[in-house]
Amino acid sequence: MTNSQVELITIGDELLLGFTVDTNAAHISRTLAAAGVEVVRRTTVGDEADKIAAAVGEALERTGAVITTGGLGPTSDDLTKPAIAKIFGRSMKLDEEIASALEQRWRARFPNSRFPATNRSQAEIPEGARVLTNRHGSAPGIWLEDDKGRWVAMIPGVPREMRGMLAEEVLPRIKVVAGGSENAIISETLRTTGIAESAIAELLGPNVLGEQDTETGSLSLAYLPGIAGVDLRVTAKRLAPARAEKLVREAIEKLRSLVSAYVYGEDDTDLAAVVLEKCRSLGLKLAVAESCTGGLLGERITNIPGSSDVFLGGVIAYHDDVKRQALDVRAEEIERYGAVSEQVALQMASGVRKKLGADIGVSITGIAGPGGGTPEKPVGLVWIAVDAWETKAQRFHLIGDRAEIRQRAAQAALEIVRRALSNG
Ligand code: AMP
Ligand code: MG
Repeated sequence: MTNSQVELITIGDELLLGFTVDTNAAHISRTLAAAGVEVVRRTTVGDEADKIAAAVGEALERTGAVITTGGLGPTSDDLTKPAIAKIFGRSMKLDEEIASALEQRWRARFPNSRFPATNRSQAEIPEGARVLTNRHGSAPGIWLEDDKGRWVAMIPGVPREMRGMLAEEVLPRIKVVAGGSENAIISETLRTTGIAESAIAELLGPNVLGEQDTETGSLSLAYLPGIAGVDLRVTAKRLAPARAEKLVREAIEKLRSLVSAYVYGEDDTDLAAVVLEKCRSLGLKLAVAESCTGGLLGERITNIPGSSDVFLGGVIAYHDDVKRQALDVRAEEIERYGAVSEQVALQMASGVRKKLGADIGVSITGIAGPGGGTPEKPVGLVWIAVDAWETKAQRFHLIGDRAEIRQRAAQAALEIVRRALSNG
């Protein structure tokens, strides 16, 4: 294997200004990783020839293999090709074949207007470059290589064109120059919820995988906290595929055994799907009563195809009158304990279970903020209750803004049901 490491440079002022999210970088990293090619560094630069040249020059020195996106269009902010040609000491030449193909493409699209001269600049190619065909747009890509085998692949910024050219033109060439890398990059994810990142780290202890990163391969663990919980991602690099897969599998099973109570699935499993599947296999029907989440829990559940054979429906009991009238929550208790309380959460859960004839009722009542908090009942306080063969309520203090608190509450409610189902 000669080289299965690549640097990525995304080009465009709009990326630095934050107007365009750099989705190209994420797509290229994922696609290359799946092919066993490691992106070791990503850089973003604006539409300035000297900045582009400096970034590409440094990346060539370091890694010798570079992909750029952006700046291949016909306008004055498209400077990628000449800037990089200069690093390689190549001059630009008009490629008549490409020029006439561009002209034909133009005439087919705009039969009544003249082919603009600026468009011909897209047919300017560095001497000795290989042209990468663009089947999805007009700007061709460029592959430039020096006598030491160092290379730059330039592809367009438009995501649809970039994706096509990466798959059809760039990846096959990388495989050729990398000498048919036998290595794989393999990741698997264990999904946990209801436990903080630091608490998981404590359960797992330091160096749980005997992590190592050497020339001959690496196995690493990443903690990825998010609104759904903390994902544990294990990645193997620079290893033969069979060995990488085996090591990752063993690592995932080891992690699972250490934090099993908090694990609800792997990879992109949705907790709502896990809960529905468990209910389905036990022949149980589910109903929800939501206050501060305003239907978010029902949305999570009904987002899963086939939820109708388990999920009966729910009540959005936002106003206290609805809690009383639709769910039989007692007025005295709302008065005495407040709408965000253990007592009201429990009555909402049992109320919706009975009213809808479900086996499991689950409820959420809380303070999503930003206003409405008090010292005793701060923003983020949420009570969640489940009523089934067991009846219980749990108090949460959830963090984040209004949207996050609501999403975390829906996830916590699903987790309470999952645990009840595991105990039942
Ligand atoms: P360009 O090839 O530089 O003319 O870029 C054309 C368009 O593609 C830009 O206006 C952006 O909307 C989009 N684009 C460029 N670079 C990226 C990127 N890294 N990620 C996502 N979109 C991009
Ligand atoms: Mg641009």
